[in-house]
Amino acid sequence: MAFDYDLFVIGGGSGGVRAARVAAQGGARVALAEESRYGGTCVIRGCVPKKLMVFASEFPDAIAEAQAYGWTVHAGGFDWTTFRTKLHAELDRLEGVYRGLLGKNGVETFDMRARIVDPHTVELADGQRKSARYILIATGGRPVKPDLPGAEHALVSDDLFLMEQLPKSILIVGGGYIACEFACILNGLGVQVTQFYRGAQVLRGFDDEARGLVSEEMIQAGINLHLGTNIAEMEKLADGYRVCGTNGQEAIFDQVLFATGRAPNTRDLGLEAAGVAVGRKGEIVVDDYSQTSAPSVYAIGDVTDRVNLTPVAIREGMAFVETVFGGNPTPVDHDLIPTAIFTQPEMGTVGLSEEEARKRGPVEVYATSFKPMRESFAGRSTRVLMKLIVCAETRRVLGCHIVAPGAGEMIQLAGIAVKMGATKEDFDRTVAVHPTMSEEIVTMKTPVRSA
Ligand code: NDP
Repeated sequence: MAFDYDLFVIGGGSGGVRAARVAAQGGARVALAEESRYGGTCVIRGCVPKKLMVFASEFPDAIAEAQAYGWTVHAGGFDWTTFRTKLHAELDRLEGVYRGLLGKNGVETFDMRARIVDPHTVELADGQRKSARYILIATGGRPVKPDLPGAEHALVSDDLFLMEQLPKSILIVGGGYIACEFACILNGLGVQVTQFYRGAQVLRGFDDEARGLVSEEMIQAGINLHLGTNIAEMEKLADGYRVCGTNGQEAIFDQVLFATGRAPNTRDLGLEAAGVAVGRKGEIVVDDYSQTSAPSVYAIGDVTDRVNLTPVAIREGMAFVETVFGGNPTPVDHDLIPTAIFTQPEMGTVGLSEEEARKRGPVEVYATSFKPMRESFAGRSTRVLMKLIVCAETRRVLGCHIVAPGAGEMIQLAGIAVKMGATKEDFDRTVAVHPTMSEEIVTMKTPVRSA
């Protein structure tokens, strides 16, 4: 049977664009449909604008530090409108780059929604039908709010980049990556931030000591963090929200942000008709090669709810192309993925937390927490943490956890060593780079705990 295309990709985010581009470079006839903007969550409403906001939010501290180092500098106000205009110009530029990459490589694009009609056919929003030997679903995810009266008016992370003005006060609900990152960003930009997290400590699943320090530093920086607290009731007022917490306190906030998780974008994609199985959260079920229960349909990225990170989606896209068009079945390696949470200070982490490692066997824990030179000189009480979890039997470093300014940059490099299977002795053999914070990672001589 002759198909219109070898590959039809639904979704123009990081994963979809990469797969489309690489397949086309290899000679496949490729089309891609995107209903919103090219670049997807990462470029348009996630990692990229978030990181630019992180940079913007760090200046008050930098100015205070400059004063402590003898500079005569004074912070004026932060002009959100000026920043937002520049931010959106940058996102437009990046979207253009993504579009350009597809065009240059001969990928035909359709700026509209697409759904699957059968395992080899896609229907576009304008009614056109296109056939393809393979269909790749890369539709990502979206933020979800709890089913709570009043929540329908509140913000999700997508909305933050579009705000006309910064609120004076905000309540952030949630304790994951997004809640904690935006609590720090908005706090840095001068918004009064209150955060409710229903559990005992934010950043569930990460190393306890590391998340404990992040949480302490967030509180120290002025975030009004309430643990074990959720919204009991909320009411939209003409100008803000009245919120009753499960802690019995009532307060008025200009805005409320729900950072309560994300759901895969599988609604109305025609999956059932195509025989594509979905899981309990609506995620597309795939095997190690990203193949769905319909053999000609594959899925990558957040829509599969495996590890929801941009670089992982990109790898899944590359592995898909290698498997299907390169004739070289390539599973995606989801083990030992380094990641960073851009709180202030940042947390960088790779491998097992102390708690997880202990469950698996005897470990030695090496950790040091100290005031870094730069902040200490400026009279600040900020602390950082460097921590290694070592297998007592093999001596392999099973986990590395860093809470420090720049931890995201550090963990990328530590991640190589951990991925290579480095032992504690390999770390010890490496000469320290002096004077740095990260030198502590190779100079910890005695375990603080063994278990
Ligand atoms: P997460 O799943 O990480 O966190 C959701 C948070 O909301 C949790 O603290 C959860 O609590 C809480 N929550 C869930 N439902 C409710 C509810 N009904 N009421 C109150 N609280 C609730 O999601 P995020 O949205 O923060 O991030 C999604 C994913 O995006 C991340 O897991 C990550 O993969 C990715 N991401 C990565 C970033 C990075 O690399 N720096 C940055 C941002 C996102 P509980 O812990 O009790 O379940």
